Amino acid sequence: MNLSLCPFCPLLCDDVPALALRDPAATAPPCPRRRAAVARLAAAGEAVPRIDGRPASRDEALDRAADLLAAARMPLLLWAGGDVAAARATVALAERLRAGLDLDRGGRPAADAVLRARTPLVLATLAEVRNRADLVLLFGTDGTTVLPRLLPRVLRPSRAIAAEHLRTRRIVRIGEGFAPAEGVEDIPCPADTLHRAAAVLRARVKGHRLPPSPLAGRDDLAALAEALRTARYAVVIWHAAELPPPRAEPVIEMLAGLVRDLNRERRAVALPLAGGFGGTLEKVALWQTGTNVPLSFADGAPDGEPRRFDGARLAAAGRVDLRLWIGAGVDADPPAGPGPLIALHHPARRPDAAVALPVAIPGIHTDSTLFRLDGVVALRARAVTPSVLPSAAETLAALRRRLDR
Ligand code: SF4
Repeated sequence: MNLSLCPFCPLLCDDVPALALRDPAATAPPCPRRRAAVARLAAAGEAVPRIDGRPASRDEALDRAADLLAAARMPLLLWAGGDVAAARATVALAERLRAGLDLDRGGRPAADAVLRARTPLVLATLAEVRNRADLVLLFGTDGTTVLPRLLPRVLRPSRAIAAEHLRTRRIVRIGEGFAPAEGVEDIPCPADTLHRAAAVLRARVKGHRLPPSPLAGRDDLAALAEALRTARYAVVIWHAAELPPPRAEPVIEMLAGLVRDLNRERRAVALPLAGGFGGTLEKVALWQTGTNVPLSFADGAPDGEPRRFDGARLAAAGRVDLRLWIGAGVDADPPAGPGPLIALHHPARRPDAAVALPVAIPGIHTDSTLFRLDGVVALRARAVTPSVLPSAAETLAALRRRLDR
């Protein structure tokens, strides 16, 4: 069977028949996200560029977009998804425009980026988790909402290099509203008390005495802290987008501290989840500019400071007068915001934008290189179906050529 890399989430499963990336009814390992993405694509009509909602030729749309970009004083490039080629073109265009550059986090603060800028973090690779973990803690997420096959591909695979780790591996979820999953233990905890549960766990692991409180008195958290303390290889997983926004940063900071504390005597790693291909831009921005997103080229050189250049914060404060949204392969619409919007979008979408430019889906319409969730491996996804649509990288390069004229 001709197997392909599935490009619909950063797990990048490599066991999917090529036919199942074109035909939603084809037999393949079950995945609701892949099936929905393929069905939507199969049902999409012909996608054409639009200016203010009216169909236009691609040249007209590119000319109009270039005019808007040239006139903008504070443009913001918002990355929702794409491949390495699109990320390179995005960074180059941001530099050309002296623009801000950030991920589209749906208006949420850049909690993971803030933590990364402030403190070292021991991160996991998927292969390590798959082969070595004896205790996996999913904190505030069940993992499968964002990566549907996380359990069978990584946490509970049928095979691993060290089979005994699979037999004894414990998977524990803390949070609420999880669908039951075989072989997974649940510790109930309302979302608005997750930050306290994280603090209790960390304090217990460190052997600190706790002031009396309902969470401090819970036996299940005490037992989990003891299991973490004695685990040979613990993995702590979170998904910033599923944590309550005002508490996301303190929760993540506490979990990162927990991993650091555990590493004093044993091995422990963190695995922050992400549903899209933000990691692809993060890697490219890092190697192109030496700094991570959010960043700004406003002063002519890359300046990365996650709070200052947080795209959602800048947009909310009215410090952006144009947004260019890059959503190659993302079956979603751009967020609302200030100023005109130029959208490079999924062919099944019709975003409300000053200029809308449909682009090819990486790994479906074009050969593409994408970074996997853990950021240590970039994989090549081969096109499975032809399209007349240009790639996001070609579209961004065409905009840049117009600006350089
Ligand atoms: S989990 Fe992600 S990469 Fe794997 S089949 Fe589903 S959508 Fe594709």
